[in-house]
Amino acid sequence: MSMLDEIKPTVKPRVIDLVNAAGIDVSDWGKFRGGEKRAASNPRYCYEWSFLKPGSIVVLNLWYQSLRERNGIVSIDLNLRKSVRRYAEGGKGVWRTRAEKVDNAIQDAAKNRLPVRVIVNDGEMRTADYLSADASRVECRLLDPVPWAVASYDWKTGECRLIRGGLSGKFVDQFSLQPEIEPEVERRMISGIAFVRDAGLRDRALERAKGFCEYCEKPGFATTDGGMFLETHHVVPLGEGGADVAENIAALCPNHHREAHHGARRDEIRRALQRRLKGFASKVK
Ligand SMILES: [Zn+2]
Ligand SMILES: [Zn+2]
Repeated sequence: MSMLDEIKPTVKPRVIDLVNAAGIDVSDWGKFRGGEKRAASNPRYCYEWSFLKPGSIVVLNLWYQSLRERNGIVSIDLNLRKSVRRYAEGGKGVWRTRAEKVDNAIQDAAKNRLPVRVIVNDGEMRTADYLSADASRVECRLLDPVPWAVASYDWKTGECRLIRGGLSGKFVDQFSLQPEIEPEVERRMISGIAFVRDAGLRDRALERAKGFCEYCEKPGFATTDGGMFLETHHVVPLGEGGADVAENIAALCPNHHREAHHGARRDEIRRALQRRLKGFASKVK
């Protein structure tokens, strides 16, 4: 059974209930002429494509048909700014506004690393768009129990990728992977790099990084079991008097971890990481 089969909707619960279940306050839905009883069909909300608890949760409507699975990872590529332009040209003002809201919600999620909850819609997708439009017909929907995350967002173009499970709270490094996941050749390649041994310190760095390399800000990769992989690294090596504390341990993508050890720019990387972690140390105090 593929991951996509798992989230294929078969029933049609109300949007209001799914949005509520995702953790968004829906008490305003009942405050309109239709009254509390008709809250679920408040046109101000029920046709929206995105719902937002600012700084906390983002809920998006996505089409099941637009999701794709590759190597066990479910993801979607979106560009809402393109949709905004298309709707603007087509005189679809309402859709344009909805698409803008989705873009803003995704930006908020990208900036603040918010969990993205996805309502998966299945049915007749009439437009070439990814999101529910009222010109399309939703036959079934469900709230994906697994939170998604914005893996990348191009601030120039609005091109973005969302991945399922990206911020599941399970952040792993080279020690958490089962040995069979990392082939022998990989292990040989990374030998010669010192790893952080203290599990508690590694966990603190991984939690802080939330799956994004603390040097390049790009996500690590999703592992087969839905974790996010980064490597933990002593910014100033213990051998050079570096301390074995969380503020001296960075979580890096494998590429930058190697570069931090062997690259011509390793001093530059070290300085950048020191600046960043210094900021973190003062922030938590
Ligand atoms: Zn990196
Ligand atoms: Zn290292």
